[in-house]
Amino acid sequence: MTSAATTDRSQETGSRDAGHVDVLIVGAGISGIGSAHHLREKFPDRTFVILETQEAPGGTWWTHQFPGARSDSDLFTYGYRHKPWRGPSIAAGGAILEYLDEVIEEDDLAGHIRYRHRVTALDWSSAERRWTAQVVREDTGERLRYTTDFLWMCQGYYNHSDPYRPEWPGLDRFEGTVVHPQTWPDDLDHAGKRVLVIGSGATAATVVPALAKTAAHVTMLQRSPSYWFAAPTVHELATTLEPLDLPADWTHEILRRQYTLQLDWLAATGRDDPDQLHEFLLEGIRPLLPEGTDVDKHFVPRYRPWQQRIVFVPDGDFFAAMREGKASVVTDTITEFTEKGVQVSSGELIEADIVVTATGFNLSPFGDIPFRVDDEPVDFAKRVTWRGIMITGVPNMAYSFGYFRHSWTLRVDLVNDVIGRVFAHMAERGATTVVPELRPADADMPLRPWSDPENFNSGYVLRSQDRMFRQGDREPWLHMHEHDHERRSLPEADIEDGLTYR
Ligand SMILES: Cc1cc2nc3c(=O)[nH]c(=O)nc-3n(C[C@H](O)[C@H](O)[C@H](O)COP(=O)(O)OP(=O)(O)OC[C@H]3O[C@@H](n4cnc5c(N)ncnc54)[C@H](O)[C@@H]3O)c2cc1C
Repeated sequence: MTSAATTDRSQETGSRDAGHVDVLIVGAGISGIGSAHHLREKFPDRTFVILETQEAPGGTWWTHQFPGARSDSDLFTYGYRHKPWRGPSIAAGGAILEYLDEVIEEDDLAGHIRYRHRVTALDWSSAERRWTAQVVREDTGERLRYTTDFLWMCQGYYNHSDPYRPEWPGLDRFEGTVVHPQTWPDDLDHAGKRVLVIGSGATAATVVPALAKTAAHVTMLQRSPSYWFAAPTVHELATTLEPLDLPADWTHEILRRQYTLQLDWLAATGRDDPDQLHEFLLEGIRPLLPEGTDVDKHFVPRYRPWQQRIVFVPDGDFFAAMREGKASVVTDTITEFTEKGVQVSSGELIEADIVVTATGFNLSPFGDIPFRVDDEPVDFAKRVTWRGIMITGVPNMAYSFGYFRHSWTLRVDLVNDVIGRVFAHMAERGATTVVPELRPADADMPLRPWSDPENFNSGYVLRSQDRMFRQGDREPWLHMHEHDHERRSLPEADIEDGLTYR
């Protein structure tokens, strides 16, 4: 079915009509594939398409193919509720891609995914009660136009093609190779080389031990320390369960509950007794560090636990590389790059053949896609979230945004359940649109940043606050709850409260 009328913008671009679908999903990462599964399961008659810029599914796991790329939360909670994870708790990026491939096959999604299709603009027309998506094919340059009744944004939270790279003086003088983990060259040989990794987050913690296996030496240069947590790649409970030969879905559910408890404890202790968590985390890594390590300088952060993500170290491999003398940590600020390496404030020159800039992301609100509602550009910074799922004044649009402290996907499943309820409610009432609208009582509600810096203040979040949607001070206008709260509140969420159906 195609749209008889078209919006102004589609006429401007002269794009080819690619057809109409009931639901259009943007992004084929773990969120988009999960959303398609829910749609398939609950609304098998709805037509849908997934538009994806990259040439393959997996999102984050397709983009990040640097040596050692792996999850930093367990796959029993990072995997979907419906699909048992069968491997070790911490998984290599390749194993996560295989898991997603299996979901695509089991749900027969392949024919619905359009790769190398980048969505470049989204327009809602109230007269037509539908969205028009402008799309550019990355492979041919062709411009297409899809229309849809409902837009499901699963584009992730960061820019996949433009990672964050601070500007350092003298970088162009450096004679070695500079790489970012988001764009790792297949042919980069680090064996026998001196590698400098700039950064101290999950990516740095992952790439350092992987490179240290064959590099001459790997130095991790951090401006300031992070919290670290070392735990086994295989949970001891998984080892206990193994001889029982349980059905895979039992094991999945048992370990999912076990990890959820563990993460609940970490999140709640960070909130209620940060000093206790601080001690717990430091005492956990002290015995793993090489003798003589200046713990205060390199491992005591300047923020409360959980104000930024805790760096997870499976089997303590990062610390093993340190103990073996293959990796070391420098805590200092960069003065400049020279031909030979990086000069830091202490005066030390860290010589390197390869510099890895594990410096993080550029946050990308809604993929930085321009949205218009009835020809008016949508400024998300002036809009308010409905439960971290929809946005005020933007009809028939939902988004998937996971947790920072628990596994991302736990929230994706919960959000998909809410959207399923909204779809069913619309069908029951014969409504064709749903839109969040502030209630009269909310007219003077104070608006707050979507992420309270007191609660979570990673660099990529702070750098982009001014472009992100806002939250209020009461339900249903709140985002950034924890999983222990939302796994009770979202299934009970009143889908009439704050939503207008027409
Ligand atoms: C190295 C690394 C490890 C991580 N490990 C964990 C972990 O262990 N646990 C955890 O909970 N979280 C982890 N995260 C966070 C992770 O990003 C999320 O868990 C999750 O992968 C996000 O999935 P997503 O599908 O929402 O988004 P993404 O994985 O970002 O996928 C979004 C997809 O949308 C596509 N897209 C974007 N814009 C457009 C457009 N305009 N048109 C068409 N397509 C578009 C992108 O190409 C991409 O394929 C990790 C992140 C990184 C970088």
